[in-house]
Amino acid sequence: MRALIFDAIKARPEVREVPEPKAPPGGVVVRVAATGMCRSDWHAWAGHDEIALPHIPGHELAGVIAETAPEVTRWRVGDRVTVPFACGCGRCEWCRSGQAQVCPDQEQPGFTHWGSFAEYVALHAADSNLVAVPDSVDFAAAASLGCRFATAYRALAGRARLTEGEWVTVVGSGGVGLSTVMIARALGGRVIAVDRNPEALAVAAELGAEHTLLADGTDVPAAVAGLTDGGSHIAVDAVGSEQTCADAILSLRRRGRHVQVGLLPPVDGHPRVPMARVIAWELDVLGSHGMAAADYPAMMALVERGALAPQRLIERTIGLEEAADLLPRFDSATVAGMTMIDPAGGLDRLGRTNAGAL
Ligand SMILES: [Zn+2]
Ligand SMILES: [Zn+2]
Repeated sequence: MRALIFDAIKARPEVREVPEPKAPPGGVVVRVAATGMCRSDWHAWAGHDEIALPHIPGHELAGVIAETAPEVTRWRVGDRVTVPFACGCGRCEWCRSGQAQVCPDQEQPGFTHWGSFAEYVALHAADSNLVAVPDSVDFAAAASLGCRFATAYRALAGRARLTEGEWVTVVGSGGVGLSTVMIARALGGRVIAVDRNPEALAVAAELGAEHTLLADGTDVPAAVAGLTDGGSHIAVDAVGSEQTCADAILSLRRRGRHVQVGLLPPVDGHPRVPMARVIAWELDVLGSHGMAAADYPAMMALVERGALAPQRLIERTIGLEEAADLLPRFDSATVAGMTMIDPAGGLDRLGRTNAGAL
């Protein structure tokens, strides 16, 4: 199969023929119809995760089942599916209680094994991890749920338990930040979007942010306090840096809830977090790590109804070669919205399926 692969940390990714994966016990092989590129793929390329080389990144995907292991009972060849980026083992107490996102034995395509920047990808514990994609939902829309959108949904609905009318400060307007803006609006929240990039803020405003704040040295917490009469009820750090984490926490009103979604990679040093404020104002500091397959149906129903439209966040659809050029500079490229990769050439520019291509 054709795949985007790199042979060493920070080596130039190449597109070349590699052996097709086999279905692991209890797993499947999926023919990839669409796969998103995300900052986590760049982190893996840059050596911030433990990966075996050579490596194929890619963890936000949707496609069609091409092979099933004999143990698989819920799925058949030809089914349209997507998958959370954290695939639980399907057997432990967390997986059995629907919390596979914290499974201690989880597999992550694109990290623990070869990922989806390829024509085919292997997925583990299919009966617990796969999610059906309804015919009315595009592969690209489904792929865009896999990491950032699902993470944003869980951060607001599952962790912060957003209720209608609450103020939500979203720090960062990249893929996960814009997803958070869209979902917060759909759940009835009032959004303040913060970013360094004015174009990203313009997109946030289109998606329903009531206020936007350009982080150009502005005192973000003070500005939020002014707009919200004392701070927001919920804050989400969708970037993952000491500064954005602190800005988010300090933007909260008393008893507010902070959700940390952006990764704080150890390579940047241990972040200082304003814990004195957390104690004095009784703030909740919550982590959010993707979303289990068990929680997908409620979100997928909103996508099917059109209340959530993740495909609106897709800015461009590219092939594997362009993806190989883009990956090494993905952390610094100021690309607004999501980048979708079409490994098999079956999608049009907006990520819709061309008739007959799959
Ligand atoms: Zn498990
Ligand atoms: Zn991702």
